[in-house]
Amino acid sequence: MIQIKTRADFDKMREAGKVVEEALLTLGRAVEPGITTQELDEIAKRVFDKNGAISSSYHYGEPPFPGYICVSPNEVIVHGIPRRDWVLKEGDIVTCDVCCSLEGYHADAARTFAVGRISPEAEKLIRVTEESFWKGFEKCTIDHRIGDVSAAVQAHAESFGYGVIRELTGHGIGRQLHEDPDVPNYGRAGHGPRIVKGMAFCVEPMISSGRRDIALLDDDWTVVTRDGKYAAHYENTIIITENGPEIITLSEDKNV
Ligand code: MG
Repeated sequence: MIQIKTRADFDKMREAGKVVEEALLTLGRAVEPGITTQELDEIAKRVFDKNGAISSSYHYGEPPFPGYICVSPNEVIVHGIPRRDWVLKEGDIVTCDVCCSLEGYHADAARTFAVGRISPEAEKLIRVTEESFWKGFEKCTIDHRIGDVSAAVQAHAESFGYGVIRELTGHGIGRQLHEDPDVPNYGRAGHGPRIVKGMAFCVEPMISSGRRDIALLDDDWTVVTRDGKYAAHYENTIIITENGPEIITLSEDKNV
C-alpha cells in the first residue's frame, strides 16, 4: 500500500535528504586513485554521526549488510560491500549508494564517480545514466503514472544501446527505506500507480554499458553485470508536494 505523507512527514524527510546529500558531496571529493571502498564507507559514517543520522544500509536484510553505505566499483551494479582490500585505481568508476534515517524518516540517493581520469566510454555511461534519471523526473508530476517514469528512463538508456537492469527498481520511501510502489526502470507509459500529492519515491536508473543480465556473488549481496561490463547508477529521493515534485537529496547549492 502506498503511504501518503503529510507536510510534517516531508519536513522530516528533507532533513534526512540533506544528510544524504552532504555524504555524497563529501564522498565525491574523497574519491581518488588509492582509496579503498572501506575508507569511503568510513567517510560516510562520519557524516551520519556528525548529523545524528542512522545508516539505513547497516545490518539491513539477511545476511545483515555489513557496510554503512553500498560501494560498487566498475562491474558491480549495486550492493557492493565496503572492503579494505578493494583499492580504487585510475580509470575505475565507483557508485556510492547512501541512505540514512533521521528521526525515523529515510532518504536515499546514489552517484557514480570517476576515479581519476576515466575512458570516454565510462564518462558517457555515467552521463547517460544521470540523463535517464532526469527523463524520468520530467514525468514525476500528478498528471502521470509510475509507468510513464519507467518508460522514459528505459527509452533514454536503451537509445544508447545500454542494458537497463530489471531485477532492481526504485521504490517508495518514508518511515521505511523500501515502501510501495516499485519504480522500475522499464515499463509501459500509461500504466502503474497514478502519481498523487503526498507520495515519496526514489527514481534510480541502474544501467549497464553491456547487456542487462546480472549475477549475485557468493556474499549474497554484491550484484554484478554478468558480462563484466561497467554499470552506473544515479538516484534521488523525490517528494510530490502541492507545488509539484521536489528532489530532497539534491539542492541548488552544491557547496555544502
Ligand atoms: Mg534506493
